[in-house]
Amino acid sequence: MAVVKDTFESRSPADDRVLATFPVMNAEQVDEVVDFARIAARWWSDLGWAERRKRLLRFNAIMATRLDELAELVHEENGKPTDDARLEIILAIEHTNWAAKNAERVLRRRRVMPGLLTLNQDARISYEPLGVVGVIGPWNYPVFTPIGSISYALAAGNAVVLKPSEFTPAIGSWLVDAFGEAVPEQPVLQLITGFGETGESLCRSHVDKISFTGSTPTGKRVMATCAETLTPVLLECGGKDAALVDHDADLELAADVIAFGAFSNGGQTCVGVERVYVHERVFNEFVAKLAAKAMALAPGVETDASYGPMTMPSQINVVRDHVRDAIERGANAVIGGLDSIGNRLIGPVILTNVPEDCSEIQDETFGPTVAVNPVRDLDEAVDRANASPFGLSASVFSSSRAALENAAARLEVGMVSMNSWAMSAGVSALPWGGVGQSGFGRLHGADGLREFARTKSTVREWFPIPVDLTTFKRSPRTAEVLGTIVKILYGRA
Ligand code: NDP
Repeated sequence: MAVVKDTFESRSPADDRVLATFPVMNAEQVDEVVDFARIAARWWSDLGWAERRKRLLRFNAIMATRLDELAELVHEENGKPTDDARLEIILAIEHTNWAAKNAERVLRRRRVMPGLLTLNQDARISYEPLGVVGVIGPWNYPVFTPIGSISYALAAGNAVVLKPSEFTPAIGSWLVDAFGEAVPEQPVLQLITGFGETGESLCRSHVDKISFTGSTPTGKRVMATCAETLTPVLLECGGKDAALVDHDADLELAADVIAFGAFSNGGQTCVGVERVYVHERVFNEFVAKLAAKAMALAPGVETDASYGPMTMPSQINVVRDHVRDAIERGANAVIGGLDSIGNRLIGPVILTNVPEDCSEIQDETFGPTVAVNPVRDLDEAVDRANASPFGLSASVFSSSRAALENAAARLEVGMVSMNSWAMSAGVSALPWGGVGQSGFGRLHGADGLREFARTKSTVREWFPIPVDLTTFKRSPRTAEVLGTIVKILYGRA
């Protein structure tokens, strides 16, 4: 075993108290973990669908029965209120259940129609495990986010090496230990800890795929590193999600949902509402309702606060820069402002009439601030929402089904919630992911299982046919007959 050269501390965002110490793992140590994973992957894959399902459900049972313990740890290390932590873990449990129970149905070998020219072939698709999947996770949803990769990758028959964020290693460690209790035989899910360099080592370790969730700039670095070894990547990156409110929307519902989408988790949510485009006819009424919701919030470090402190201290400066830029450029601070930004806690900030080229509109803020701008109609709202280089998710509020569907079809994002926010996170069968600068590839659902499988096509001759095409013994007459058949079949369109 290589010598551990260094350690780092995980600290509580509430009071900076040290929670745990972890090794900063170097490339050699990461490679060693991946070597063990490769052996475990073979064992796990050979277990077959039924045995893997049994073990994954055992892991899920541990998460479910120890839900409160894990929620308390998430509160301590990430800073979010305990009930938000519970909700996050419940979503992770739902997804693990779905992945365990649906993997065989989605990924088992299946027959496809061979087509007229190859009618004598038994044609099949199989989805084989990739081997070892490296999962790199963020700190904002430290259970839900990595589990979206881990459970699906495991269900597809892979071993997993998890690199959690340097801000939430204890939560990553809890998950790995819990899985180890459910599956003690082999290190099918392992932990590596450290900073960005450790993640980079994982990208270089010849794992069979990297599933990355984090910011867009880091995603680009991950992709560049993976290019060195042609390691496939799945990138779940940042967002600048918009909510669109039409003139006929239920404004009370929209304000309630958007307040939660913008301020819950202190706005540190990839699909957090950061921009709102409201029909000008109901703009003032909507802003008043949203402001009332924001004023009722009580952020703090307590377990039952509305939302907690900022988990990553450096993000506070980003939030301050965005708010300052917007106000200096003429935005109206309806609730909060620069004074809302404390050392670790940030009070809710609502800015209206924010110039569209401000950082508050263009860049991911990742804090409890929201920009609300009026628009002529829902079409303009869609255009403005689409003007962002990000394309993770969006929400639309209207009482017209046609308007909702029309906007949803035009929005250039991976996920749309109608009269709700981020609802697809709770529907395990729905894929999760974005477009543009928000990344590519899909987690969750059948697509999320296939992300962690290698597609293989096989053909086997069922019975010989007189027209054999793949032989030098083929007569010129064969091609002539085939040509005639093709003309009859396809030549009349
Ligand atoms: P970062 O991009 O800072 O970090 C993400 C992970 O990448 C961390 O584990 C980090 O390690 C690691 N990392 C850093 N540098 C490298 C590198 N060069 N090579 C490999 N790995 C590296 O994101 P945050 O943790 O700050 O998370 C917040 C971001 O995540 C936001 O942009 C948010 O939108 C996005 N996100 C996206 C989601 C989605 O589904 N699309 C869901 C949740 C969050 P370390 O922490 O040690 O630096």
